[in-house]
Amino acid sequence: MKIPEHVTLSVLLAQFAVQPEFGLGGTALMVAAGCLPDLDGAAIVAGWRFYRKYHRILGHGVLMTLFGPLLLALVGAAAFGWEALATLWLWLQVSLLAHLITDIYFYNWPVQLLWPFSRRGWGVGLLTWNDLVPTVLLYTATAVALTWPPGAQPAALVSIAGLTLYLLWRSVRPRPEDGWSGWLTGSWATHSAPFWRWLTGDFIS
Ligand SMILES: [Zn+2]
Repeated sequence: MKIPEHVTLSVLLAQFAVQPEFGLGGTALMVAAGCLPDLDGAAIVAGWRFYRKYHRILGHGVLMTLFGPLLLALVGAAAFGWEALATLWLWLQVSLLAHLITDIYFYNWPVQLLWPFSRRGWGVGLLTWNDLVPTVLLYTATAVALTWPPGAQPAALVSIAGLTLYLLWRSVRPRPEDGWSGWLTGSWATHSAPFWRWLTGDFIS
């Protein structure tokens, strides 16, 4: 999943506890945790080759998974009070794990979860690069959450449930088909115009 989608998924996950309890500061931490693994995407400044080599490895490894959310929770607890530590840690961990799970199931770009202890990569690749169904689900619900607080939790729930169902459906029907179900399975995504790719946050492929 690409950065804007990770951001929106984190904002939606924040609606269940962190945003109601800690407000926008809490949601900002959730977004930070949800994007933490892609810090290794900063490898792009060192060039495309370096990026292809190290993206999905450094930031997606077990050390970041174990310690990243804890560090962010400590920052949050210093701001919101130490009694907030356990709640924050739990939800920041959820946000980071959601990043890893979507990365693994979405595309065929192996995620090295155990780096630096193992180079084994996991990638299920259920979706076509630039599939807009998750994008629409995530962006719509985030717009609702940000503009209409009473609807935030239901919107987050519907969006995340929809995303899960879509992934389940794609695992049964992994191949894009023709017609309307072809649209839903992303058959158009491989040759889509740049605008649609930009919508998902992909400015480089
Ligand atoms: Zn990632």
